[in-house]
Amino acid sequence: MTIKTLGFIGTGNMGARMVPHIAATGFPIHIFDLNQDATQSLARLHNNIVVETTASAVASAADAVITMLPAAPDVNLCALGEDGLVEGFSKGDILIDMSSSQPWMTVELAEALAANGIHMIDAPVSGGTRGADEGTLTLMIGGKNEHVERCLPILEPMAKYIFRTGDVGSGHALKTLNNLLSGLNTVAAAEALMIGTRFGLDPEVMCDVINESTGMNSATKRNMKEHVISRKFGGGFAWDLKFKDYKIAMELARVTQTPVPFSALGFQLYESANTWIGDTSEKQSIEYVRWYEHFAGSQIRKPANDR
Ligand code: NAD
Repeated sequence: MTIKTLGFIGTGNMGARMVPHIAATGFPIHIFDLNQDATQSLARLHNNIVVETTASAVASAADAVITMLPAAPDVNLCALGEDGLVEGFSKGDILIDMSSSQPWMTVELAEALAANGIHMIDAPVSGGTRGADEGTLTLMIGGKNEHVERCLPILEPMAKYIFRTGDVGSGHALKTLNNLLSGLNTVAAAEALMIGTRFGLDPEVMCDVINESTGMNSATKRNMKEHVISRKFGGGFAWDLKFKDYKIAMELARVTQTPVPFSALGFQLYESANTWIGDTSEKQSIEYVRWYEHFAGSQIRKPANDR
């Protein structure tokens, strides 16, 4: 069954940048977010976008609904709570959770939905707000082939790379492990750049060299120059989401009984940073480095005569 009308719930930093790529293909899209300002401004951009006021209204109008929410508890609430998706879905409809959710909760939600004749796949993304803006996200999709195939036409406009990872929940498992690595990259890159800065190296030059060498990672490539050395500490990826992702990875390690001493040390560093930050609500994920600078007693900056 071809998907004719799409629903999209969660038009925050990522969702608001993803919806226009699908809208540009002409799909009618019904959107909902608890923050109504976010949905109204999107609807003004495309005349095939309709704003709804509940998740159930979105599900009634659509054959498939994408969720791009903070995490699995929000997706559960949206799907099974009051005025939730199950109240509006018809048998055979499909939920596509693109949030970075807890994989074990995804498996449970898929089972609960299946009992109502609703299908589910998980399709979390990597690439950040830039990838969402450019329609070049990496998608990791878990779910039955027949359901995934049905959803591809609405997923392709947002993505550069689409990977199939296995059964429902497997995309979320892979995503959390990607984010574990990206969190550890930040820890390692901050320490290397701090040593170099103290020795008198220019951290910008260090990044340029490392990015063409074997030490290159996502932190040296993306975050350090743009957000740390520039002292902007921006990014579009909230601290709370980053910390949530790290917690999911550690829980996955626990339930799979995997020894992870190095990741556990990294998690302790993130926990210390979380305590030091205090009110994390407005902070970006790169805030980890600000905490590390405080801990180390100096900053990763260009040499004074070069600013
Ligand atoms: P965000 O906080 O900016 O957006 C989430 C949106 O969900 C908000 O607009 C909020 O109002 C809405 N929302 C929350 N609960 C809701 C509910 N029950 N019903 C309707 N709307 C609800 O978050 P984001 O940065 O867009 O991230 C979304 C997901 O994508 C997260 O799981 C995150 O970990 C993941 N992710 C984010 C990035 C990034 O760079 N920001 C990159 C990759 C993956």
